[in-house]
Amino acid sequence: MHASERQTFRVSQWGVWNLPQRLLGSVLVVEAFAAVLLFVDLFVTDFGEFASSAIDVFALLVGAVAHTEIALSVERVRRRVTEVAHISLSSVWRSRRRCSSRRSWRPGYVIVLLTYLYFRVWRPAKVPPYREVFSTATVVLAVHAAAATVAYLPAVESDGLFGGPLGLTAVVLAVLAYTVVNTCLVVGAVVLSSDRSVRQVLGDGDEVVLELATLSLGGLVAAAVATSGPLLVVFVLPALVVLHRAVMVRQLERAANTDSKTGLLTAAAWQRMVMRRLERRGGVSAALLILDLDHFKRVNDRHGHLAGDQVLAAVGAALRDETREQDLVGRFGGEEFVMLFVRGAGEPYTYAELRGIGERVRCRIAQLGIALPTPDGPLTVNGLSASIGGALFPADGGDVHELIAVADTALFAAKRAGRNVVRLGLHRAGAAPAEAAPVPSDSPQAAG
Ligand code: GH3
Ligand code: MG
Ligand code: MG
Repeated sequence: MHASERQTFRVSQWGVWNLPQRLLGSVLVVEAFAAVLLFVDLFVTDFGEFASSAIDVFALLVGAVAHTEIALSVERVRRRVTEVAHISLSSVWRSRRRCSSRRSWRPGYVIVLLTYLYFRVWRPAKVPPYREVFSTATVVLAVHAAAATVAYLPAVESDGLFGGPLGLTAVVLAVLAYTVVNTCLVVGAVVLSSDRSVRQVLGDGDEVVLELATLSLGGLVAAAVATSGPLLVVFVLPALVVLHRAVMVRQLERAANTDSKTGLLTAAAWQRMVMRRLERRGGVSAALLILDLDHFKRVNDRHGHLAGDQVLAAVGAALRDETREQDLVGRFGGEEFVMLFVRGAGEPYTYAELRGIGERVRCRIAQLGIALPTPDGPLTVNGLSASIGGALFPADGGDVHELIAVADTALFAAKRAGRNVVRLGLHRAGAAPAEAAPVPSDSPQAAG
């Protein structure tokens, strides 16, 4: 065993201690709470009852393993293409105990399943153990929330689960309780550990919808096992594989729409999304900026293409930072970027406003100091500048192509005017130029 491997067994070396303080406390509280619940569960376990339902539990474990093995390749691709909170589809196999009013062997089943997932999925994917311990704790709490929902509903007594509308309502509430508790804990942890907002972490809600879909399947599995025996589990596997593939298509699509160097939208995706925004019912007002970094070739010539790529990424991040959630920022080509600001038709953008936004963006780029690690020590690239062209919708064009053409002409005018300036649409070509900051004679430059 290597020394580094041995170190991971030392409590003081655990990765969990590197978590930010505000997160560490919450993580430990969640884990302690889950551990207490598991401990209590072990004391209420009825071994006699397990003997009568052992075959059910075994069938569910076989189903979970078969599903994981079939879907492993899809999961690997999903992990590669997505950064969002990953929710394992194996929750379908965890719902058996939740939908049973009997409490026995819930912890044992969950522990066996998670141990299997650890060795087969998480460890090969190099997921830090503390993250899996936390996600296991969230599952334990979610399962208990769901079980408590069922246990305290009188409907279950009269109808039995799946026995009638009241029982079914109880199952739906249990599924919701599971999803709410699990999603809140996972999303809360991601928000506390990064500077992303709840909205950004949730994305378009795909993962939550997926969790609900798998849990619904889980409900069906539990119903099938409870009423017709464990063999019906076999029929769930094809549905799960299809679910995996459907999710992968969405994520591949998202990855294809994202420029890998900057994380912004690709030109094609940006245009498609702009088209949709402009056609929104009720009408919109929009402002478009197209921007080209000045003398970017010099950055590459001086510092190399890799440094150039990092500068492009930093500019992309700065542009994203200058926009709101609903605005669209894309990488149009090499060192060209596009931005679209949208709002309701009732409050149209004015040229003065567009000039203000363009100037803000121009200044932001001029102020950038981008630190790059190099073999010879840190290097700061600064003195960047950009020429910017702008156009207004609907004044300068009725669709995205017309707007881009007008803004591009304005950009060309900005370059001709000496660079590092903002120029607006055709109608503004003769208007007073934006105040041009002096172009550094040797920009862009680096401070070592
Ligand atoms: P101008 O002020 O006229 O825009 O000068 P420029 O040097 O920025 O313009 P030009 O269009 O002549 O060159 C753009 C340069 O951008 C050429 C290329 O080296 C660089 N470039 C384009 N795409 C990438 C990229 O993905 N990574 C890096 N590092 N450089 C890129
Ligand atoms: Mg260019
Ligand atoms: Mg350029």
